Amino acid sequence: MNGKVIAIEKPQKNVGKDTLQKILNSSIILPSPPAIAVRVLDSVKKERGSLRELARIVSNDPALTSKILQVANSSMYGLSRKVDSLEMAMTVLGSNALKNIALSFVVASELKNITGGAFDFEEFWRQSVINAVAAEEVATKLKKKNDDTFVSALLQDIGYLVMFLTRPEDFIRVMEASKMDGEDVQALERKIFGFDHQELGAALLKKWGLPECIYLPIQYHHDVEDCPEEEKDRISVINLSNRLSSLYWGLDTSERLPKIQKWLQANIHLSPQEIEGLLDSIAEKSVEILSTFEVAAKDLRPLSQMLREANQELSKLNCSYEQIVVDLQRAKKQSENLASELMKANEKLRTLALEDGLTGLYNHRHFHEILAQELERSKRYSHYLSLLFFDIDYFKRVNDTYGHLIGDQVLKGIAQQMRKVTRVSDALARFGGEEFAIILPETNAAGLRVFGERIRRGIENMEIGPGERSLRVTVSVGGTTFEPELVVDHHDILIEVADKAVYNSKSLGRNRFSFFPLQDFTRCRASL
Ligand code: GH3
Ligand code: MG
Ligand code: MG
Repeated sequence: MNGKVIAIEKPQKNVGKDTLQKILNSSIILPSPPAIAVRVLDSVKKERGSLRELARIVSNDPALTSKILQVANSSMYGLSRKVDSLEMAMTVLGSNALKNIALSFVVASELKNITGGAFDFEEFWRQSVINAVAAEEVATKLKKKNDDTFVSALLQDIGYLVMFLTRPEDFIRVMEASKMDGEDVQALERKIFGFDHQELGAALLKKWGLPECIYLPIQYHHDVEDCPEEEKDRISVINLSNRLSSLYWGLDTSERLPKIQKWLQANIHLSPQEIEGLLDSIAEKSVEILSTFEVAAKDLRPLSQMLREANQELSKLNCSYEQIVVDLQRAKKQSENLASELMKANEKLRTLALEDGLTGLYNHRHFHEILAQELERSKRYSHYLSLLFFDIDYFKRVNDTYGHLIGDQVLKGIAQQMRKVTRVSDALARFGGEEFAIILPETNAAGLRVFGERIRRGIENMEIGPGERSLRVTVSVGGTTFEPELVVDHHDILIEVADKAVYNSKSLGRNRFSFFPLQDFTRCRASL
């Protein structure tokens, strides 16, 4: 084959001797008609004078009679009065219609007994009945009503049934190949069987002796363009109804629906409302007729209802999607609030860890950290760095005289005074009980002297407490300065020297400032 496309020759569409012979030669065994069908068929064949005979055959079968009356009274015919006898059915529907209803029942009820294998017989009859109802509806809508429409549409795919019953494996091959490759079913049938289900179905009904008006539409129901001109109308109805009814069982309904709607609007000039009404009535009437044929309707319901339900499901999904978004936003807000509270708490903890609770100045530990950092920075950039210490004079007496609370107020007042006279870059700390420290970056010894004096005087002039109870304190101040040319291994040396300077101020009578040069206690670079 070398990858060449096999051309499938389209055989002449006629179930004449050739096709029938081909079918008979193909190991296909055409089933015999059911016994009661033979009698109904006989009466069908006789065009005239067979009414009484048909009535006799049917009335001998009470189940068949009641089914015929059910169909006659169904909404499919929409008769205004109740049909309660065969005679009346004949008068109201006409003998031909009645014959065809009877025929539909006898053929279907007989073939329905066949079950088993991979073929879904129940589904086959379900689709066949919906096809028949759809054909009847389309014919009415297009004003092309015909007595044979129902039975032709019902039996249009009977060829499938015969294919499956006689050559099941080949039939399954056809179905699977069409599903897998999307190849045209009729073309595959012709390739594998030598004829298609249209020809086979028509041949069967011809052999059973059914009139041409019934089997001819079956022979062409997928190939309307090939049919004899005079049959075009009837065959078009079956073809179109098949496309509509397939929306109720085929796959991809939502994709096929717009295409079918467009086609109907363009070719038959039906409005969208008319199309919806037509499709809905096919489902509604099919449910009724299916029960008469004792075939389960399953979940068959009007297409508009199915679409509505689908939309509702979709909007429910949308709703829950919106709810999820709202929940997420709420959760996000909560977590943001939580994060900000956590940040505040952390900030507070950090502050607590760094600050002295009474004065709000840096605590002893943090003072060490800052001094170490500032010393490193000063060494790196060759900047001066001064450290000032001071201790309240005779503070014990203050506590003893005024009480501890007043003592605390003095400590707070001094902290306030320190803030007043320092720069933002200076770091203020409570070094111990009544000892304070100030780190002065980029401040040389001269600057420190001026500053030390300012602190001392500021505190000396500070009044604590109102009126007569007001008191004053003095402080003994000491300081030292790191100069870039000095070698300082650790910041503790600055503390030690500044402390010595304070001690010096104390020993000289208090309320004074002493400067101790750092180089007296450490080495100079030059001496290295
Ligand atoms: P000197 O001039 O020699 O420094 O005398 P002084 O009395 O200030 O020194 P001393 O070391 O004898 O006493 C320090 C006092 O400071 C003792 C202590 O009760 C007081 N003190 C330390 N911390 C606090 C505090 O947080 N609040 C109060 N009210 N008093 C404190
Ligand atoms: Mg003191
Ligand atoms: Mg002290």
